[in-house]
Amino acid sequence: MNCPKCESEMVAVNQGSIEVDRCSNCKGIWFDEFELETLKKDEDSSAIDTGEAKMGKEQNKNDRISCPKCSTEMIRMVDLNQTHIWFEHCTVCSGNFLDAGEFRDLMKEDWLDHFKALITPERS
Ligand SMILES: [Zn+2]
Ligand SMILES: [Zn+2]
Repeated sequence: MNCPKCESEMVAVNQGSIEVDRCSNCKGIWFDEFELETLKKDEDSSAIDTGEAKMGKEQNKNDRISCPKCSTEMIRMVDLNQTHIWFEHCTVCSGNFLDAGEFRDLMKEDWLDHFKALITPERS
């Protein structure tokens, strides 16, 4: 599979029982259906996002891409909790493509939320 953004080769990366594909050049990450949701719950998975956010920002401008799996034109999605995170989603195979640094960013938010949940006093 080749990167939908820069057309470099994508390399399989394992995190737990999940295998995602990461671009050998721009470090964007491809998540198959459900993989993104599953990995977001795993605190260690931000380690798969090894690219620099700077590179990701550059690639983020390149938003007219076709799905690397099924060649459908992908649509742009915005994370509801963090509206500065834009990523591409395939409406046919439900895969998602995140630029370098975006997955780490997503994980950060989840941990902040978790922390907030811990320090919020219980209603009496
Ligand atoms: Zn790439
Ligand atoms: Zn697709």
